[in-house]
Amino acid sequence: MNVLLIGSGGREHALAWKLAQSPLLDTLYVAPGNPGIAALGECVDIAATDHRGIIDFCLRNSIEFVVVGPEAPLVAGLADNLRTMGVAVFGPDKAAAQLEGSKGFTKDLCSREKIPTAGYARATSLDGARAALDDFGLPVVIKNDGLAAGKGVTIAYSRDEAEAALDGLFDRSGGNVVIEEFLTGEEASLFVLTDGKTVMPFGSAQDHKRVGEGDTGPNTGGMGAYSPAPVLTAKLEQQAIDEIIRPTVEALARAGTPYAGVLYAGLMLTEAGPKLIEYNVRFGDPEAQVLMPRFEGDLLALMLACAQGKLADQPRPVFSPRTALTVVMAAKGYPGTPEKGGAISGIDKAEENGAIVFHAGTSMDGETLVASGGRVLGVTALGANVTEAKGAAYRAVDQIDFASGFCRHDIGWREVEREAG
Ligand code: ATP
Repeated sequence: MNVLLIGSGGREHALAWKLAQSPLLDTLYVAPGNPGIAALGECVDIAATDHRGIIDFCLRNSIEFVVVGPEAPLVAGLADNLRTMGVAVFGPDKAAAQLEGSKGFTKDLCSREKIPTAGYARATSLDGARAALDDFGLPVVIKNDGLAAGKGVTIAYSRDEAEAALDGLFDRSGGNVVIEEFLTGEEASLFVLTDGKTVMPFGSAQDHKRVGEGDTGPNTGGMGAYSPAPVLTAKLEQQAIDEIIRPTVEALARAGTPYAGVLYAGLMLTEAGPKLIEYNVRFGDPEAQVLMPRFEGDLLALMLACAQGKLADQPRPVFSPRTALTVVMAAKGYPGTPEKGGAISGIDKAEENGAIVFHAGTSMDGETLVASGGRVLGVTALGANVTEAKGAAYRAVDQIDFASGFCRHDIGWREVEREAG
């Protein structure tokens, strides 16, 4: 079967790497892809936002299945548009993608279904938002309702900070915010595949969002991750599925907007049990880079089953018991303005000892691989535990020559400390 994968980041390289192993695959096309992905499939120069261009390409190239990597095209209705044209898609339609596209939508759903999550208020006027603050203690969490690529969230430690955050989220045309109770605990990510009926657990991970060592400094898209997340024990995972994920999938099905695709729950493991922080309607990045190397089955078969409503017929996914750990190499300046054009070499040496190097923001300048984005590479290695995987990943990082890049040196630190006892 001919498959088109949408996206160009490390997540899409990891998905392409796994899809390319499927016996069901004939040709893999990727729009727009990147130089790493080009070794696995044919990259086509169509932007993820160009729905018309994507549909035309599918019709002209006998594409039977489209896998959407990032959230923005899903929230914008790409899956609906493709399905209307008779092309099967992995990823939810616009109505169900609101789980990520509107934080208020998800909070209201949680409230109706009694799903454990932080207490909240919604406001569409600055005065209303300021008044709602009175109902919350400090710190308080202020979020923009819509997609903001991880930059729409402020944790305010004083009333002044909270008001300043609100000022920034309203303008003359208005605004739409969610104010939330601050939750305390450790965060973990849980992934499930679903066809709208069957819910199939698909691994766990923990990531490091802050740019600086010790989880300090500004937020990023993610500087590293590892899978599985040992803090998310089998018992807590089952609790999260029973109390959070299944009620969500059932509520969407009842509403006539069934969810099909991967559902990624950002959880806070509180003393009172797992609580939902947020939903994402796609794989995480870098989390996909640690999940795919551990997944031992046929990704394409599972994704197709999600799209066809036949997930119940699939075997339960098998993951390697080993730990995978990814270190993100970013361009200096990230998450501000990243330095572009820096040369990269040594990836082959890094891979000689078993590491996998996924490309994110790279491009070719003639014969030279160069940085073209903030997060540039994801270096993944496997080990018996986080400590071992970390050692192997950083040995691979040391093989890569990327003078205008940097990485954190402490990915996995919490688990490494716990493993040391
Ligand atoms: P991203 O795109 O980075 O996943 P986002 O913009 O979708 O983020 P959230 O995931 O809702 O926003 O929040 C970002 C981060 O803020 C969370 O990972 C968590 O660390 C923190 N956070 C969000 N909500 C709360 C809360 N209620 N209590 C404590 N921390 C929170």
